[in-house]
Amino acid sequence: MHLGVDVGGNRLKAGLVTPEGLVHNLQSCTTPYSLPEFRTVLRNLVEQAIAGNPVETAGFGSKGIIDPETTRVERLPGAWDFLEGTRLGELIEDLLPPGTPIRGDNDAKAALAGEIAWGAARGLRNALLLTLGSGVGGAVVCDGHMLRGATHVAGHFGHILADPHGPPCMCGARGCLETVFSSRAIEAEAWSSVHQGAVSPMTRAFRAEPEKLDCRTIFEWAAQDDPIARWILDRRIEMLAAAMAGLMHAFDPEVVILTGQIAEAGEALLAPVRKAVYWRTQGLLRREVVITGPGLDDTSGVAGAAAVGMLT
Ligand SMILES: [Zn+2]
Repeated sequence: MHLGVDVGGNRLKAGLVTPEGLVHNLQSCTTPYSLPEFRTVLRNLVEQAIAGNPVETAGFGSKGIIDPETTRVERLPGAWDFLEGTRLGELIEDLLPPGTPIRGDNDAKAALAGEIAWGAARGLRNALLLTLGSGVGGAVVCDGHMLRGATHVAGHFGHILADPHGPPCMCGARGCLETVFSSRAIEAEAWSSVHQGAVSPMTRAFRAEPEKLDCRTIFEWAAQDDPIARWILDRRIEMLAAAMAGLMHAFDPEVVILTGQIAEAGEALLAPVRKAVYWRTQGLLRREVVITGPGLDDTSGVAGAAAVGMLT
């Protein structure tokens, strides 16, 4: 069995993963806000997940930038910055059989490792993954290798350029992909439409019940042909597809996997993305690249984390 630990922004999760990618003993709790508490909670979760079973490898998937070999958290801005400088493996190594290999990686790279081991990119040597949520993350496997770059930053596709004159981004630049295509960006534009008094069934509904304004609901309104929802999403999906076409020329993948909260929209997102990507890439690629949702049933991130550990 393989231990997987997912260090998420909201939840800390641990579980045992079989060689077939099935998650057992999944444990989960709120991610603590201090290092001593984090250490205690993590160790409890890992002990409960292992529950006396033999463990061959251990892997972490975490927000931020993680050194895969040492499991040191290199950068993790925000509420969990206390983890910067911590080697995640050291917090649990005495709970594992002596000499158990422990590795760690960024959560998007872990997700792609899981998709290559058991999911939509199974056995492929060239695959690209984008996580579409409140921000945008990514990872790419090129010629069989997970690209990391000189400082493990490679794959941060949320910060490739989508619009040179676009909004300011948390990274200090402007017009990055996640400033135009993320749940925050989509929701901000819907808020702006409501605030400016634009009239449609959707804006009327959000004005009456502002707490219902979220990305998922905007997709639902678009499915009912609400003109403002459609205008927001059509334009932004075109921007995502244009950025993806650039990535496909850069990396020439066999498959592109879209995951994360926005990708739960399924074909409402995938179908227009495929169409827009195809006309932008057919000239050079001369093929229709598979663009799909995740193939793993596991939504906890634990299977991907375990796949990182199995790469030893
Ligand atoms: Zn940025």
